[in-house]
Amino acid sequence: MKKVRTRFAPSPTGFMHLGGMRTALYAYIYAKARGGDFILRIEDTDRERYVDGAVEVIYQTLKDGGLIYDEGPDVGGSFGPYVQSERMEIYKKYAELLVEKGGAYYCFCDKARLEELKKDDENAKYDKHCLNLSKEEVEMRIKRGDSYVIRQNIPEHGVGTYTDLVFGEISVDYSDLDDNVLIKSDGMPTYNFANVVDDHLMEISHVIRGVEYLSSTPKYNLMYDAFGWERPEYIHLPVIMKDATRKLSKRYGDANFDDFIAKGFTAPAIMNYIALLGWCPKDNVEKMNLDDMIEKFSLDGVSKSPSIFDETKLRWLNGEYLKAMDDEEFFALAKPFFEKSKVYGKFDIKKLAKLLKSRVEILSEIPEKIDWLAEFNSYDKELFFNKKNKTNSEVAISLLPEIIESVKGISDFTNATLFEKLSEKATALGVKTGAFFWVMRIAITGQAVTPGGATEMAEILQKEETLRRLQFSLDMLKNS
Ligand code: GLU
Repeated sequence: MKKVRTRFAPSPTGFMHLGGMRTALYAYIYAKARGGDFILRIEDTDRERYVDGAVEVIYQTLKDGGLIYDEGPDVGGSFGPYVQSERMEIYKKYAELLVEKGGAYYCFCDKARLEELKKDDENAKYDKHCLNLSKEEVEMRIKRGDSYVIRQNIPEHGVGTYTDLVFGEISVDYSDLDDNVLIKSDGMPTYNFANVVDDHLMEISHVIRGVEYLSSTPKYNLMYDAFGWERPEYIHLPVIMKDATRKLSKRYGDANFDDFIAKGFTAPAIMNYIALLGWCPKDNVEKMNLDDMIEKFSLDGVSKSPSIFDETKLRWLNGEYLKAMDDEEFFALAKPFFEKSKVYGKFDIKKLAKLLKSRVEILSEIPEKIDWLAEFNSYDKELFFNKKNKTNSEVAISLLPEIIESVKGISDFTNATLFEKLSEKATALGVKTGAFFWVMRIAITGQAVTPGGATEMAEILQKEETLRRLQFSLDMLKNS
């Protein structure tokens, strides 16, 4: 059986669209599930759209997402070059061959004539005027240096049909297709031509790409047929929408992979989430790493209808990934966000990270979740009220001196020791530990919700600050 080879063929636009990343992901897992190769090809023939550094963004984003390509511009391979602008000679040769085979023709029409054709109807097709030029005339004009393009020769009648592995049978009337330009006057190929030549020469078995190419594929098939090449299999993927009417787009600031990383999403969670945009695993277990996806992916689970990007779900999934990390891994990722917080330089952020790991969905929430810790001020004494623990500000006034006294006597300021010693003290006083710790936690944080219990928070604050806060709270209550 033919080896499965898939490719991801982005244009270097300077950022990686999540939709593009999903295409890359599906191409990767499809190949890997079948012992095949995954290839990266850079489609940079549109020089006007060229952006400096954009190719590096592609390499880096694929690596961040874990999509290790077997062949590509920076890793090599035996089907290179993998950058289209380095394949000009190849396109020239095959364009000439296609002309010889009748699948394309030279066209010398100037701008004025082309505009004239579209004067009454801007969608008017090219009228095949140059198809009738004799071979001698074409040769003479090329020799003379006339500017020309090469156009595809689409049959005037008939229907192009193929079976897409997701969308099923697709038929397009040739009369609806235009004789598109394959080679531009500057010698550059268009996407329409280059994708066919490259996919064939790179022995791509399955072309996986966005649904926007579904109805132009019959044009490409005409070229495969004219060359006498075997057509690849096609897998077109549904569009990703922002909501019912808008596509996910860079314009709304919601499509760039790196923007999500900057917001504090992790690459594995993003990859997991985008895998679910258009595909549902049979077992409905949604949390999957790349290996799970390779094992579970199947085309019958891929949907034809558009999928809607749900950031709330991505946040939830990201939180699951953060929770599952070990403390070191979480801290390594979260450190830059802790450094942006007001607690940085005041308290041990590594200890705080342990407490926060299971309490954040995205890393950028970290500063807002802990900034308050650095700004201890008067707070609402009603916070001491707790029905279950039977506490209120009066109870706090009576317990705080005991807490202060105990804390003064503890030198090993760790959660474990604090918890043990303070529990003993509460028991000795005949006070429920729940009440004791409720009062202490409010008194040292001034917050209803904190990422840890009283003794965990005390360990973060350390002895001096813990005592200062306990005293502050006692004074505040007494003076109110
Ligand atoms: N360069 C094309 C794009 O970025 C690739 C489409 C394809 O995969 O064939 O849309």
